[in-house]
Amino acid sequence: MEKKVDHSCTLDKIISLCKRRGFVYQASEIYGGQAGAWDYGPLGVEFKRNIQNAWWHYMTQLHDDVVGLDSAIFQHHKTWEASGHVAHFSDPMIDCTECNARFRADQLIEDFVHSHPETNPGKPVDTMTHEEMKAFIDANINCPTCGSTNRKYTAVREFNLMFKTYQGPVADESHLIYLRPETCQGIFTDFKSIVQSNRMKIPFGVAQVGKSFRNEIIFKNFIFRTCEFEQMEMEYFCKPGTDDDIFESWRKDRWNFYLKYGIAEKNLQWHHHDKLAHYAKDAYDIQYNFPIGFEEIEGIHNRTDFDLSQHTKVSGKDMNYIDQEDGNKSYTPYVIETSAGLNRNFLAFLCEAYEEQNVGDEGNEDYRTVLHLHPQLAPVTVAVLPLMKKDGLAEKAQEIRAALKEEYVTDYDQSGTVGKRYRRQDEIGTPFCVTVDYDTITKDSPNFDTVTVRFRDSMEQDRVKLSELSGFLHNAIRNYKPVEKK
Ligand code: ATP
Repeated sequence: MEKKVDHSCTLDKIISLCKRRGFVYQASEIYGGQAGAWDYGPLGVEFKRNIQNAWWHYMTQLHDDVVGLDSAIFQHHKTWEASGHVAHFSDPMIDCTECNARFRADQLIEDFVHSHPETNPGKPVDTMTHEEMKAFIDANINCPTCGSTNRKYTAVREFNLMFKTYQGPVADESHLIYLRPETCQGIFTDFKSIVQSNRMKIPFGVAQVGKSFRNEIIFKNFIFRTCEFEQMEMEYFCKPGTDDDIFESWRKDRWNFYLKYGIAEKNLQWHHHDKLAHYAKDAYDIQYNFPIGFEEIEGIHNRTDFDLSQHTKVSGKDMNYIDQEDGNKSYTPYVIETSAGLNRNFLAFLCEAYEEQNVGDEGNEDYRTVLHLHPQLAPVTVAVLPLMKKDGLAEKAQEIRAALKEEYVTDYDQSGTVGKRYRRQDEIGTPFCVTVDYDTITKDSPNFDTVTVRFRDSMEQDRVKLSELSGFLHNAIRNYKPVEKK
């Protein structure tokens, strides 16, 4: 019997496409790979930057009250004492004593419950104590690494996720330095400077994109969980008492960001935190329906006045805000945080865009792999393809490409049939292909000085005057509607 080919999106297919087409490679692959580290290739770096730019545009340009910051990765080590990271930023860890494999106890339970929904701890995992986790694991879960059914595990204990080292040659407490585990603390320590230098009035937000580092116990699922990743965070400072409404309004806003850039609403869901972090009054995650199930891509937190109060306490510097619009009242602002992972956004947008689409006619099967990426996110916006290499078509195509370069990221491809070249562009999500044919260069043709623009999603084609090409593409990007996949 003929084996049925699976045309769904799987993580393995995404990993293979990323490697094959230069989106993402395993870091240090020639040495066997560095665990939890990935390199972004020529297309990946463009795609990642486009997501970052879309976020920045959405958060700062479209919000008059949000400004930007780029703070240092290294902050004074007291920052992390004040923020609570030294004491609290940890995950529960458990080891199998037979093979020494190490697991995150909460994830071990979550993965088990996912495949055995009938056996569950009867309460959310994030509310379980260490003893409850250990008892559940001992009673139910064989070691996923060595398969031992003896269930000989250590106790569950907390493991701090911050990387630490010493600055300079002296390894003592005063030279202790941490790699930041979140970008936002730089925003809090700079709060006063931002208010004073830019005459900011509450409410206002500060946006920042940058690397964060976490010594994760396990890395899983490609770029989903890594030690080094980028966060796109915004801290919105507001008057205490206004925080609940502002929290709700940012929840809506952030949800709409994903819809705007092409995620179908059915693939998003909210997850409410049952157990709150030490700083939070309320917290929700936006989860995306990855091939591995719904998982977090962004957290939205009401951090209260925790961070600014802590920095006042530990630094001795007053971080209060003087509200001139409220009789010069002095108060510590509340903070609503939106914290998205750039790399997880990358993976979510890729999975959402991926389709193996049957484009065969009359009942025939002919599958193309296509990424329906939003044109503002796609690594290449327009590919220019001469029908043939000869007769001046290649030169004309290069000339057209050169004219488009100032405004768009372009590609040029002259090898193989046009059909094959379209497929290559479809696979990397190029929304427009411009084809140069004999009509383009034949003076007495009615189509002289025109090209064919082929649309990735519909595969339809339009004949467009060269003089109007740039504007035509501009409008097509502006009016782009994400496709509904079957
Ligand atoms: P998780 O529960 O998955 O460990 P978290 O709740 O600790 O995530 P936050 O501290 O809220 O995550 O960080 C905000 C965002 O940063 C997350 O929504 C995620 O997109 C991203 N992020 C956090 N940890 C990692 C990681 N190890 N690798 C990649 N992205 C991460």
